[in-house]
Amino acid sequence: MNPSKSTLDDLIDEGYYDPHIHRVSAIRGTELHASNWQIEGPLRMLFHVLDENVAKDPRNLVVYGGSGKAARSWEAFENIVDSLLAMRPDDTLLIQSGKAVGVFTTDARSPRILMSNAVIVPAWANWDYFRQLESKGLTMYGQMTAGSWAYIGTQGILQGTYEEFGAIADQRFDGTLKRRLVVTAGLGEMGGAQPLAVKMHGGVALVADVDSAQIDKKIRQGYLDERCESIDQAVQRALAAKDRGQPLSIGVLANAADVCTYIVRERVVPDVVTDQTAAHDLLYGYYPSGVDKAKADFWRSADPEGYLAGVRETMRQHVTAMLRLMDEGAVVFDYGNNLRAQAKEAGVDDAFRIPGQMVFMRPLFEEGRGPFRWTSLVGEEEDIRLLDEELLTMFPQNQKLEKWIQNASKFVKFQGLPSRVCWLGYGERDRFGTRINQLVNTGELSGPVWVGRDHLDAGSVASPYRETENMLDGSDAVGDWPVLNALLNAVSGATWVAFHHGGGVGIGLSLHAGFGLVLDGSEDSASRAKRVLTADPGLGVVRHADAGYRRARELAAEKGVRIPGADSGGSRHRQGL
Ligand code: NAD
Repeated sequence: MNPSKSTLDDLIDEGYYDPHIHRVSAIRGTELHASNWQIEGPLRMLFHVLDENVAKDPRNLVVYGGSGKAARSWEAFENIVDSLLAMRPDDTLLIQSGKAVGVFTTDARSPRILMSNAVIVPAWANWDYFRQLESKGLTMYGQMTAGSWAYIGTQGILQGTYEEFGAIADQRFDGTLKRRLVVTAGLGEMGGAQPLAVKMHGGVALVADVDSAQIDKKIRQGYLDERCESIDQAVQRALAAKDRGQPLSIGVLANAADVCTYIVRERVVPDVVTDQTAAHDLLYGYYPSGVDKAKADFWRSADPEGYLAGVRETMRQHVTAMLRLMDEGAVVFDYGNNLRAQAKEAGVDDAFRIPGQMVFMRPLFEEGRGPFRWTSLVGEEEDIRLLDEELLTMFPQNQKLEKWIQNASKFVKFQGLPSRVCWLGYGERDRFGTRINQLVNTGELSGPVWVGRDHLDAGSVASPYRETENMLDGSDAVGDWPVLNALLNAVSGATWVAFHHGGGVGIGLSLHAGFGLVLDGSEDSASRAKRVLTADPGLGVVRHADAGYRRARELAAEKGVRIPGADSGGSRHRQGL
């Protein structure tokens, strides 16, 4: 017997999926298709991440971040949907790299889905081997939130970038970027969030990109104010705006290396310098200086070796100039795009004098803070607005949160199901999740809400070039933490739990975990929210306390996070007891 209300054919008839052209649309409304909301929730999040307004390349199931996919193939997608629609309330579906592989009867309080994406035995974990497996149809690259169905469009990266520049403002400039100049590059999919994030903190952003169309696109989307054709003119405009204290963002059609070299030559010292070209990908992600984009594209196809030599030389100049600016007093950091490592290979021996972005973000992780997010599963925009207000009422002291919500409600256009993201920490996520569930229960929200987060979070990732670079105790590459995170969220009752390999920085370089939790207004949901939303950020506090971070240890003591040995200050053996 099939306990569900619908079949895949019904979803096709309702216009949510067209199997001929593989078009997927977010499912809206209060009517259930699966047997309950704990199963309907993941079904809706799968459709949401593949919606035309959300996914980068929906026809190929690619959601974002290079080739981060939501399902391995269209056949696999249809099997996942069939499985979800046929599941009973105490079934658990297993997804292996984007393909449904089994359903087991577990318990109504267990997760409804367990997924593992792109995980490869360490000695084989490189891109070449991954591509071999992929071409045999045996695996899928899930990035962080693509394969775990937690992507909410460009709002996620805008908020993360807002937090990054906010942390810099707090730690270096009295909490604001007003009268500060940020020089950076890359107006792509993710880097394009930089100008708006800097402006939200009151600063001036000067952003180089070699792609004219990309500059215009970011202006159209409201992420960038204006464009300049010459470096000289752009620098003059930026400095004038800085002097006036006027928040402004300027896109300049130029190579990043040329902008930094020009600034060094003219003895301008910006307040902050970074880069978000896609430097991790030498061949396609970073353009060489001296030729325009069209000529560079031709050069790449005609003479790849010569082209790569040009790229390496440009990176050498670029990072040499960044180091000079750092020595002259600018706050310079690597924005997780592997530019330092590439420059080192190109001959800049001291490239790693430039710190990674975690210098600024780690204090947030110590408090279990990270990109918490929620989505109206019925597609109601008003519900997100109501939750914005609720958030500000519940956390009135948090000015950065208030500024973010004000800006987000003004600038962010919803994509797919309406969603919101903000950084909440230990002791905050469980309170807010519990409140959301209450509001679903009382009918003040028009339907159930999904909550989850990015895998880039306090206790859920091991990524030595990014989130766990330079940990105090040298535990950068210890991969136990994301495994523990996934297991903990599963036993705490998350609706689904995902363990991934290779997100953010690529295959071989990271392990990470995520979860989804459907708040349907029930008592069961309330207790899941309390457990999952305490344990998940709690593990972030534990991970940082274990590595020796003082704030994490203090917070654990203040809030009663139990850490064996913390009270006695170490082991009895060491004390000779
Ligand atoms: P993307 O490919 O969409 O965009 C890159 C942009 O850089 C393009 O517009 C391209 O024209 C421009 N560009 C390339 N070379 C240039 C050069 N030499 N000078 C000027 N412009 C140049 O990439 P994306 O999705 O925006 O990501 C950018 C990088 O940032 C990636 O490496 C990504 O991994 C990293 N990233 C890290 C974090 C983090 O939190 N650590 C967050 C976001 C992005």
